[in-house]
Amino acid sequence: TIGIHARIEGALVMIGFGSIGRGVLPLIERHIGFDRARFTVIEPSGDFAHILRDRGLRHLQLALTPENLAEVLQSLFPEGRGMIVNLSVDVDSVAVMQLARKIGVQYVDTVVEPWPGYYFGDMPNAERTGYRLRERVREVRKAHAGGPTAVSCCGANPGMVSWLVKEALLRLAADLGIAAEPRRREDWAALMQGLGVKGIHIAERDTQVSNRPKPPGVFVNTWSVEGFLSEAFQPAELGWGTHEKKLPPGGHVFDYGPGHAIWIDRPGADTRVRSWCPDVGPQFGYVVTHNEALSIPEYYTVHDGGRAVYRPTCHYAYHPCNDAILSLHEVKGAGRLPAAQHILAVEEIVSGGDDLGVLLYGHAKGAMWYGSRLTSAEARGLAPWQNATGMQVTGAVLAAMVWAAENPDEGIVEADEMDHVRCLEVQRPYLGRIECHYTDWTPLRNRINHFPEDRDEGDPWQFTNFLVP
Ligand code: NAD
Repeated sequence: TIGIHARIEGALVMIGFGSIGRGVLPLIERHIGFDRARFTVIEPSGDFAHILRDRGLRHLQLALTPENLAEVLQSLFPEGRGMIVNLSVDVDSVAVMQLARKIGVQYVDTVVEPWPGYYFGDMPNAERTGYRLRERVREVRKAHAGGPTAVSCCGANPGMVSWLVKEALLRLAADLGIAAEPRRREDWAALMQGLGVKGIHIAERDTQVSNRPKPPGVFVNTWSVEGFLSEAFQPAELGWGTHEKKLPPGGHVFDYGPGHAIWIDRPGADTRVRSWCPDVGPQFGYVVTHNEALSIPEYYTVHDGGRAVYRPTCHYAYHPCNDAILSLHEVKGAGRLPAAQHILAVEEIVSGGDDLGVLLYGHAKGAMWYGSRLTSAEARGLAPWQNATGMQVTGAVLAAMVWAAENPDEGIVEADEMDHVRCLEVQRPYLGRIECHYTDWTPLRNRINHFPEDRDEGDPWQFTNFLVP
């Protein structure tokens, strides 16, 4: 895990110093060459200022707003060289991305974040979607091809999971005795189609447990509580496979953009699917909206003329840590956001870890889970200030920074379009075990008692069979 992978010339600016920002810092110090005198962290809170102070790093203690954004950021890049790493909430990603382009510096973020007001405002549900946020990025990209590299949405998921999909496809092809050497996007899409993959869950099970029971009324999570609540109360969204026969109840198509996804008029935190992860086997996951549920199915669409002839269904199936499930139950029941919140620090986690992978289903071998299995104890041994969940994210941010430094003029990209081999090479030391598991499970299996449900016995891999009413 030792070694400098890339150098950043000019200034380095990190926006936000929350659970992810703090976790990325030691990885940057270990693996990126940069000028310490030109490194600034923009962070309104003083809670963790001592970490920066102890390391002699500059802390600009202010909150970015639409009014001060340009002035603050431009002043930090007098010679127009360097990189911005945006790990904040409540700061508009598209605004920062455009400014980075104007200044002429590379940019990395982990989510398309809007200014405050988007997630819990009065807007109709159709407009509070990740699809609309992603379309804003795509519009900028359409208007400006090329230019300084801006990596959009590169954490664990969205981010690393797109690289895991590629490794998983190559593994599946090898196990089925199919020769594959995909290079261009079209080759990857044709490979997935040829392998018969009908859909992909970003299948996660967070088993991290705290040393003290969750206090009532406190929302506990293993990463940003604000970030999680925002996406949890957006409508559920998923990439919509060409094999799907019917929309779910409350399901809507989008009549603008690529039209490859649907949204469900129900919060992601209240939309459960049957899914599968190693060890636990069958489990419930929440269909929380995420950029990878939009980028992956678009990347793997096969077109014939103007028509999409193949696309996988793709969405997040997230089983957060038990304290977060309990916290969600409380806030949904109370019908209001929590008064207090807490992110579990690695020191207070007594057991568990994070299994985060991709579940490719519907092919000749049934279903395959391929992903990272990292315990909190392992994370503690790898780098300070982060639990297993954070580490899967921070390693991907590091990989995105290295890739952006090595490929500085690629314009706006998503993880699917980056070199997955290089990125995983950088990230792999921080991922624990990468494991591949085949299973004969389908969503039609495992019921305790039989109650009426909308089942499609003819095709186990229909979304109808996954969705818990
Ligand atoms: P956090 O809640 O711990 O920290 C958020 C940080 O943003 C804090 O330091 C806060 O002070 C700062 N901030 C808030 N308002 C700001 C403003 N106006 N200007 C500058 N900074 C501001 O969150 P986290 O767990 O560190 O996550 C950070 C971001 O990364 C979130 O947007 C989250 O959704 C995202 N994330 C992505 C992934 C992924 O896998 N893609 C995973 C985890 C988190």
